[in-house]
Amino acid sequence: MSYQVLARKWRPQTFEEVVGQETVTKTLQNAIKSERIAHAFLFAGIRGVGKTTTARILAKALNCQEGPTPSPCGECVSCREITEVNSIDVLEIDAASNTGVENIRELRESARYGTARDRFKIFIIDEAHMLSNAAFNALLKTLEEPPPHVKFILATTEYAKIPVTIVSRCQQYDFKPIPFLLILERLKLLSQEEGIKISEYSLRALVSVAEGSMRDAQSALDQIIAFSGKQIPDEAVRILLGVVDEKAILSLVDAVLERDARTLVEQVQELVNSGVDPRNFCRKLIHHVRNLMVCRVTGWDERLLNLPDTAKKEILKQSEQFSELDLIRFYDLLNRAENDLRWNSHPWVHLEMTLMKLIELTRLPSLEDVIAQLERGEKIGKSSPKDGSVPSGATGTLFPAAHKSPGSKDKKGSRSVGPPEAEKTKEEETKEEETKEEETKEEETKEEETVSESQVISQLLSAVQTESIRLYSSLQAASRTTLEGGKLLISFPQSEAFHQEEVLRPDHQALLSRLCAKIVGSVPEIEVQLEEPPKEQPDPKDDPRVKTFIETFPGKVIVEKENAD
Ligand SMILES: [Zn+2]
Repeated sequence: MSYQVLARKWRPQTFEEVVGQETVTKTLQNAIKSERIAHAFLFAGIRGVGKTTTARILAKALNCQEGPTPSPCGECVSCREITEVNSIDVLEIDAASNTGVENIRELRESARYGTARDRFKIFIIDEAHMLSNAAFNALLKTLEEPPPHVKFILATTEYAKIPVTIVSRCQQYDFKPIPFLLILERLKLLSQEEGIKISEYSLRALVSVAEGSMRDAQSALDQIIAFSGKQIPDEAVRILLGVVDEKAILSLVDAVLERDARTLVEQVQELVNSGVDPRNFCRKLIHHVRNLMVCRVTGWDERLLNLPDTAKKEILKQSEQFSELDLIRFYDLLNRAENDLRWNSHPWVHLEMTLMKLIELTRLPSLEDVIAQLERGEKIGKSSPKDGSVPSGATGTLFPAAHKSPGSKDKKGSRSVGPPEAEKTKEEETKEEETKEEETKEEETKEEETVSESQVISQLLSAVQTESIRLYSSLQAASRTTLEGGKLLISFPQSEAFHQEEVLRPDHQALLSRLCAKIVGSVPEIEVQLEEPPKEQPDPKDDPRVKTFIETFPGKVIVEKENAD
């Protein structure tokens, strides 16, 4: 007998067998029980989570000779034919290869005639988002007035690409990625039944690669069986999936913790020699950082971690030695590196440098600490945990988490925040409130004026636009246009002198006067001016506070903003 791929052989045949989609299957079964069956369904979710499978089971449920029933028999002709995908009344269309309008027209034609034998004529449209616009329009007509014997089941991995008009005519079902442990359980059962010898370690590696898709997990297993037969050594899985050894990750992170650059470089070299893919390795590191964070926050929780127990001790130990802030910084840096690795021509060098940066990062104080220090007017110091000295002018408590030496057990990793705000007296508060109220009132009246003024200006501009596009485009270059006390003031920056001259042309002046008279009811005085060149502003980078900041956090000033006070 020829080899049948696992995903097909193990395709669920009843609603109960569908893994990880209980909400969907229960709702469908209830609808059938209560005889409230929609005429069109939309199944949305990532690849390999049971959309087509559920569509076929639904078709069986509707057309089973004992149906419509929430538990199709699987034995009658209708059920059997649907399972074998050759039912005359259940038609599967792969929209990926039949995107055109003529396919949907054919479908509409065949929908018009009654069923050949079964209760319903059912159209399963896979990858429905691939249909062309014309095809969607043709489909819409049938969905608007469906013949009573016709049912549609649309499946898509890209819900956002389905037109709203279609979505609104379908009953929608969201298929979730399947939880790690459920896929693992299914693969264990499947390997037992198939006589496949595979370790827990390898199964977990397989499932983690599948990222919530049952079909991907089963295909990966197929691939490995093709490679090494039914006795699967861990080494084969590692090679085929490019699985990175958990040990390599752990010892690398240990090197970062101990700030041992030499070991780190040596370990990277080992990875290069063993042919590991740098990007894949980087992704693993990101997952590891995520797991360390989860451990810090929740402790060891298998449902959240998807990890074998084997590395439990080491992972817990590492998670205790980093602060949450460290981990967030690592995540940021690694995430960027993972992205860069796609284009970098020296990916391993890039990754190695990134790992070096991780070591440097653990030396950095937190942003909150630095701000608090600046506010107290203290000098900012960097940590130097190896020699254990305390930065000059700073007390030991300034950098509680960032300074801990490897092995210390600081559970919270909390950072000190700025000094408590001095308490205000009651009197001061009332005073402040009063001033605030006055200010708000003033602002309100001001705003009203500006609104009406700006309305007039925009009315004027659109009137100009219809009469002279040349003048209009020159006015667009103005930095300020105001209409106050019977005076229309138009200012241009120094760089736009050309446009100022344009506006000053007599014909343009005449046009402005005419339009103003029309809109405001009077001819204003028109002043067109060039702005004074701006005064030299002090460079904010010269501010000693900014200087210290840049020295502490290697970076550059991107946005310069004036302080409010
Ligand atoms: Zn049946």
